[in-house]
Parts: sequence; C-alpha cells; structure tokens
Amino acid sequence: MSRRSFIAGNWKMHGSAEHVEDFSRVLVDAAPSLNCDLAICVPFVYVERLARLLEGSEIAPGAQNLSHSVEHGAHTGEISGSMLADCGADYVIVGHSERREMHGETDEVVVAKAEAAVAAGLRPIVCIGESLDQREADKTEAVLKRQISALTSGCDRQTLERMVLAYEPIWAIGTGRSATPEQAQAVHEFVRTQFADWDATIADSLPILYGGSVKPDNASALFAGADVDGALVGGASLKSDSFVGIARAMG
Ligand code: PEP
Repeated sequence: MSRRSFIAGNWKMHGSAEHVEDFSRVLVDAAPSLNCDLAICVPFVYVERLARLLEGSEIAPGAQNLSHSVEHGAHTGEISGSMLADCGADYVIVGHSERREMHGETDEVVVAKAEAAVAAGLRPIVCIGESLDQREADKTEAVLKRQISALTSGCDRQTLERMVLAYEPIWAIGTGRSATPEQAQAVHEFVRTQFADWDATIADSLPILYGGSVKPDNASALFAGADVDGALVGGASLKSDSFVGIARAMG
C-alpha cells in the first residue's frame, strides 16, 4: 500500500502570537508546491490562532498534549481532546519522551491519551523510542516491543486506525545527532513488523515518522527508507525555511 508522506512540527514550549502569524503565512504560500501532508503542533494557547490562519489550506493544526480524561470535571490545568477540537486542532502529540520522562507518563497513560484523542475526533501522533542507555545495552527492540504491545493491547481498533506513530530515539532528540538512515529504516521495519504480528492491514497503512534532529540536509537520506513515512520535527520546525526545506526533501 502506498502511504502518503507526512511531516509534523513540534514547537515544544516555543513561539509567540507573532511567530505563529509569520510562520503560517510562509507555510500556506509554500504548501501547494510540497508533496506531503503537513501539521504543526503548537502550545495550547496558540492552537486556535493557528487553526484560523491555516483555514482553507491543506496544513493541519495540532497540539502537543491532552488530558487522558474524556469526561470534563475536576482536572485543574488540564485540556481535553474535545476542547482542542473546538479550537480547530486535527492532531495531538501523545507520549513524547519529554512528557514520559518529565511528567511521568507511563505506557498506560499514553494509551488513555491516544484513546481520548480519537474519541474527540483528533489523530494522535504517538511517540515511542529508546534512551541511549537502552540502545547501548542492546535493548532497543525490547523497549519498542513493550511500548507497541501496550498500544496494540490497550487501544481500540479505531484508535490504531487513526494513529500516526513517531519513532523518536531519545538520544537523537535535540542533540544534533540523528539516527543514521540505516538505523532509522531498521527500527521502522521492526516497528511495522510488530504491528503486523497483531494486524497486517493496520501495519501496512500505519504512518511511521522518524523524529530526532531532522534537518533539511539529512532529511532526504532519512526519507529514503521504505518504512520511513515522514518526520516529526522539533527544533527545525521553528523556522519556516527549515521546515519547508525538510518537506521539500520528500521530493
Ligand atoms: C521532537 O521534539 O519531537 C524532536 C524530534 O526534536 P528535534 O527535531 O529538535 O530533535
């Protein structure tokens, strides 16, 4: 099956109203000449502004987190999936390693958040990946197997059908040290095989993005992998020219 290429930006806790305006203008102009789907995941407070600026374009607005709870209620400081959908979001990042590491998000929380996203009509971009210690101890496959099995055993079929997966080796995030194209393809193939053991149709259509120090100058080599369907881009998504440069590398 042919999967459409997809590039998503993760602004993390960066940006301003002015930055959202300037970035959107450039991206909306560039999008018709780009051969891939695009999404930008911004801090909560900018989602509505971004969605308004992207209206009428093919670029999807997104957020970076949501509450695991579908029911509204006593969850001070939390934002639900339906609130994000109200603001115009189409995507939400779930289980980024920074949230797993700094905010204690377990595999179970990641499953609950992915479910909550789909219940609200959003597509979750679910992040998985190993730490440097785990890679060096030859535990990459075991870690990914555990993270994937939590998803296939905990999520509804509909959630898995709507899911985008991002393989993000933690040692490559924000370090300038990307996985090599060979490392990325080998892991993506392994990930797809794990899903195929559970359901071949879902595995075949699952978009698997690579994330970790993707830049315009390493993107096309990474995208050459048959199982690399695009990228989740952190630092390089903050500048419109580098984000567009990465999208152009999709050919
Ligand atoms: C990320 O935060 O998801 C990421 C991949 O960051 P960077 O591109 O900066 O490594």
